[in-house]
Amino acid sequence: MSEKLAIIGSGPAGLTAALYAARADLAPLVFAGPAFGGQIATTTEVENFPGFPGGLQGPELTAKMREQAERFGSRIIEETVESVDLSQRPFKIGTSESTYEVASLIIATGATPRPLGVPGETEFIGRGVSYCATCDGFFFRGKEIIVVGGGDSAFQEALFLTKFGKRVRIVHRRDTFRAGATLLKYAAANPKIEIVPNTVIETINGNGKVTDVIFKNLKTGQNAPSAVDGVFIFVGHEPNSQLFSGQLAMDESGYLVVDSRLHTSVPGVFAAGEIHDSWFKQAITSAGFGCMAALEAEKFLAGQNIH
Ligand code: NAP
Repeated sequence: MSEKLAIIGSGPAGLTAALYAARADLAPLVFAGPAFGGQIATTTEVENFPGFPGGLQGPELTAKMREQAERFGSRIIEETVESVDLSQRPFKIGTSESTYEVASLIIATGATPRPLGVPGETEFIGRGVSYCATCDGFFFRGKEIIVVGGGDSAFQEALFLTKFGKRVRIVHRRDTFRAGATLLKYAAANPKIEIVPNTVIETINGNGKVTDVIFKNLKTGQNAPSAVDGVFIFVGHEPNSQLFSGQLAMDESGYLVVDSRLHTSVPGVFAAGEIHDSWFKQAITSAGFGCMAALEAEKFLAGQNIH
């Protein structure tokens, strides 16, 4: 049976699209993907999502979004899309379980943390190297932690990691930071946080688990080893667009190209969130894009006499 609308992704963009589409009676089918909730579900304290003046945890926010989307008839399935065929309508979507035919599609597959690309990084994932403080911070109670990056993620997660680590050093390649003023202020006031500016990691070393890193000071050119237990990497993201390669227009970094109403290069296929937005990248902007994509999908379907 053909579905009216499928949504790939279950972060704020996908779940907001689902909410709006469900309220338009489209009973959207949401493919939750490998990590329900997307990036915000691996975030700790969310203090800037309107409506929650006391802040809330990332997973709690996604759970609430899910509940709201399901209340109006969204069907969220824990399947990961493995293939898509957008060459003709209905589009075909393949998972390990089944193949689905859909009249329209919203892509909300988001972005994934970018690796640092240094020796030792891949080898020690799960054994000292991590991209998720909420997931792994607990294992570093009383330990030496470094956080790599100078953006909001690095500072926010470094602050969270001070609950566990005896010291958290933020290692950044410059001496100015992209992170916002509030997070910089919180970090400056936290006695467990130290900033290591103008520094990159040359290698991550260990013996079964991480034991130390080699720092390179970019001002002096000097290398220095430093004992650490946990290396948390927050150096930006890459869009999860591989599935659509050769089928949808993308920019040189792999972000989907959309028009001002979030239409991709294929009629009936819309994009929402960090899969096309490399600029704002906030939970609230992704949610807004999800809303816009759903409204456009509804209009598209109405034009096909699908209600
Ligand atoms: P980001 O803002 O792109 O920052 C990435 C950081 O990693 C930059 O400091 C960058 O250094 C550094 N970096 C990139 N490649 C590197 C490499 N190969 N080696 C060493 N350092 C490298 O990414 P983000 O912090 O993940 O934030 C993404 C978006 O989410 C932003 O728009 C941010 O505002 C938002 N966000 C907001 C909150 C919040 O509002 N509370 C929390 C988390 C994230 P350079 O600065 O030198 O380029």
